[in-house]
Amino acid sequence: MMENKKQKFLNKFEKKVLSTIKDYGLIKKKDKVLVAVSGGKDSTTILYLLKKFGYKVSALHLNLGLGDYSEKCLINLKKMCEEWKVKLHVLDMKKEFGMGMCSIRCKVQQKLKASNCMVCGIVKKWLLNREARKLKVDKIVTGHNLDDEAQTVIMNFLQGNLMLGANSGPQTGSIRDEKFVPRIKPLYFVSEDDIRKYSKMKNFPVVYEPCPCTISSLRIKTRTFMNSKDENIKLRIVKNFLKMIPKLREHLYKEKLVYCKICREPSRNEVCKKCSLLNLKI
Ligand code: AMP
Ligand code: ZN
Repeated sequence: MMENKKQKFLNKFEKKVLSTIKDYGLIKKKDKVLVAVSGGKDSTTILYLLKKFGYKVSALHLNLGLGDYSEKCLINLKKMCEEWKVKLHVLDMKKEFGMGMCSIRCKVQQKLKASNCMVCGIVKKWLLNREARKLKVDKIVTGHNLDDEAQTVIMNFLQGNLMLGANSGPQTGSIRDEKFVPRIKPLYFVSEDDIRKYSKMKNFPVVYEPCPCTISSLRIKTRTFMNSKDENIKLRIVKNFLKMIPKLREHLYKEKLVYCKICREPSRNEVCKKCSLLNLKI
């Protein structure tokens, strides 16, 4: 009986993810996709599922150099990818920038006010796009879930700029540029609780603790507030926001994409966000 209930949950969960992929046309059978894997439950779950669904997947891990935490993540990922026969690419922050993410952040924060997650997010996105292009994949997959996305909508609103989310949704906007690799989020409509449950039922060897550097950011305050809300409210938030996205994008695409004059990566400004952070003579 218990087994039956468990199997029903697993089937329902998998069906929901597959429906998101199909309904939003996220992946075509011929597409090569690169899953950005942190070693946490969300990205591990989507890597496992895409492989199970028969898509052409490989994985990319950015080793942020956060001591034990990063080491554990990497050991687990190597184990899983070997078992699932998925090619794992690893990029080391220390090799890329001569220092780990903690040091990069400290240097940036000595010069300007920026949260840990903001600096890390900008650098990660920049690296992911560059590597995905080098690996000639069609899409980058991230493990963002319903809770992350609902929080982001609220955070953008609290910061007075819903436009910040114009490029979000289950897939990034319709930017067409040979240097820009579209990003997709097949877990967009599934809650963090369900992903945790799925991951535990499957016994994935993942790190459940949050990143040790997520401290006192607006994200945490918003998460605490949103955790008191049930799943339907989170779904209503993202679904309402999705209806607004086409209008927001009309404005966004009036700005054209250029190449950063320092790194030549796609950017909305003369100098991209990553270079304007790191160019503070670190
Ligand atoms: P976060 O920004 O930490 O909430 O992570 C959001 C998503 O970004 C994850 O679900 C992963 O797909 C990706 N990601 C986060 N950290 C890493 C990492 N160290 N290496 C590769 N991908 C990552
Ligand atoms: Zn740049």
